[in-house]
Amino acid sequence: MRKIIHVDMDCFFAAVEMRDHPEWRDIPLAIGGSASRRGVIATCNYPARAYGIRSAMASHQALQRCPQLLLIPGNMAEYKAVSQQIREIFHRYTELVEPLSLDEAYLDVSDSPWFGGSATLIAEDIRRAINDELQLTASAGVAPNKFLAKIASEENKPDGLFVLPPAAVADFVRQLPLAKLPGVGRKTAEKLSALGLEHCSQLLEIGEAELARRFGKFGRLLWQRGQGIDEREVQTERVRKSVGVETTLVTDIHQPEQGVQVLLRLWPELIRRLAGRAIKGMCIKLKFEDFTQTTLSRRCELPQQALAERLCVEAWERARGRGVRLVGVSVELCHEEQERQDGGEQLGFDW
Ligand SMILES: [Mg+2]
Repeated sequence: MRKIIHVDMDCFFAAVEMRDHPEWRDIPLAIGGSASRRGVIATCNYPARAYGIRSAMASHQALQRCPQLLLIPGNMAEYKAVSQQIREIFHRYTELVEPLSLDEAYLDVSDSPWFGGSATLIAEDIRRAINDELQLTASAGVAPNKFLAKIASEENKPDGLFVLPPAAVADFVRQLPLAKLPGVGRKTAEKLSALGLEHCSQLLEIGEAELARRFGKFGRLLWQRGQGIDEREVQTERVRKSVGVETTLVTDIHQPEQGVQVLLRLWPELIRRLAGRAIKGMCIKLKFEDFTQTTLSRRCELPQQALAERLCVEAWERARGRGVRLVGVSVELCHEEQERQDGGEQLGFDW
């Protein structure tokens, strides 16, 4: 039985800005692209959320809801530096740290000697250290696996902890809305809802075969998650199954040629991180202005820049007019039987 902690910083970019600019603490603040350039909100603070402003909302819409909103472009270099400080805190407790983005990570503390092995006390101490040393708040979820820990970290946000002990998993999962499962976006939730499926308990009634028939591989995944099952290991750099680089653009881009330009800037870093290891495929990821994303992959034995460019242009057709806010490229390493790590490490240079 694993003990997994998911740590998620509270409105990370906005929190860093509020720490560094106390005068912004109580006013609606958002980090995002400018409205005149069709930008979107990346993060906002709680006073801004009170106006209904959310991540991924168009900046012009956010300003309509709250004309006095302070909208700033943000400072990615600083966020990366703070993210590094947070990771150093994580590594005091375990080497098994899997960053998901600049402000989120999974920790496997199953074998940690700290606090008598209590994942709950470790999570509380991590939150305390982040607060004391960085003057930022984090929320954490403790659970026997990754997806439950991630859901748990949302339960008592902000500045909260939620612990899901193994004995409580079955009851927790049964009442869990399907829309809360990672990978179930708005569209999938609507599809499930049309089948009369709202909660995890209902997946049991429809059955694995029917889920697989309707949703393919994802259906089988739903079946497992619906019973609280997630066998994925925390993947550190050392056991990583894919290597990727990606960047969130300060301003959305609209032309495939611009995407290829971003790709060419990421490419040398990908090759450096790959460090000559054997690969079995390449994958392009695009995230659109509405925060949905698409990936396109091909099998190949060598990283090929020309192939990456073709995949990028091909994936771009799925944008259907939407702006692109993130471009990523990854390669799948030659290890067997592991789910590909979702996304790469954020590089976050300014476009
Ligand atoms: Mg966060």
